[in-house]
Amino acid sequence: MPLLEVQHLQKTYRQSGKVTEAVRDVSLTITTQEVLAFLGPNGAGKTTTIKMIAGLILPDRGTVQIAGRNPHRDSRAVGLLGAVLEGNRNLYWRLTPQENLEYFGVLRGLDRRVAKQRGRELLDRFELTHKRKTPVQSLSRGMQQKLAIAVALIHQPQLLLLDEPTLGLDVEATQTVKRLVREIAREGCAILLTTHQLDIAEELSDRVAIISQGAIVAEQSTQELIRQFSGTGYTIELAEELDDNRISKIQHLGGVVDQKTVHLRESEMVYQMLRVLEPLSIVRVEKEQANLTEVFLQVVKG
Ligand code: ATP
Repeated sequence: MPLLEVQHLQKTYRQSGKVTEAVRDVSLTITTQEVLAFLGPNGAGKTTTIKMIAGLILPDRGTVQIAGRNPHRDSRAVGLLGAVLEGNRNLYWRLTPQENLEYFGVLRGLDRRVAKQRGRELLDRFELTHKRKTPVQSLSRGMQQKLAIAVALIHQPQLLLLDEPTLGLDVEATQTVKRLVREIAREGCAILLTTHQLDIAEELSDRVAIISQGAIVAEQSTQELIRQFSGTGYTIELAEELDDNRISKIQHLGGVVDQKTVHLRESEMVYQMLRVLEPLSIVRVEKEQANLTEVFLQVVKG
């Protein structure tokens, strides 16, 4: 059974005579240990959907179930959820990491002693123990982001909503946050990841759901989606430019030569092509592969 099951969500905003159908039809599922990247252009309806999942906005239609519980009717569903929405605003900036963890732990219904103990474990795991007594406002952005995720995990949620977890982080902090997201999923959490950083989504997600103008337009395994949009061709790059004799043989086989690179549209020709190129030095042979950015742009363009 999926941990999160969202069915046919709808939400229309009415503000000073203006009607916006923010979410028209969104259905999603996420299972335990799975990372779902929820992608869409600005204004597509991601935040509205996430707020409905988190029980913060009431849908006009449709249902949300977290481990079989509806967050709009059953407060226990909200207890199964952890969220880092809109950057690191789930922290008190004047409090220290230790105080934040303890405060939010108690707020989430933990005994103070348990909150302290879990807080210590999370500080250790997120490599923040040495900063446990430093006010959050004096921490680096990467540390603040790690702490925001730690705080969202204090009550051991089964579903984690993560909005732009690596935005504005340097290379090292990005790597750490990516590693933590993978670990948290492996340990049993279902993760809903929203981001405009499609390379991060490609690396971290098992599945992708793309929303456009309030409706889901693609939902599939990340690798399968990329494979569907990838060509069947190959690129062969050489260390030197080709002689006329080889160029004409390659063209005869249907290849296209561009300085030191040969492109093939069909994969069947790859070995014949390599025989023509022998014994020239090859830098790389690569299957032409789409990436999530190309897939996203095509899917959203419709
Ligand atoms: P972004 O990537 O820019 O954060 P998003 O996919 O999260 O966008 P939403 O914030 O869900 O999109 O917005 C969907 C649509 O609903 C937009 O047209 C937005 O202007 C509108 N909208 C969002 N919140 C409200 C609100 N409180 N009142 C009126 N309209 C709203």
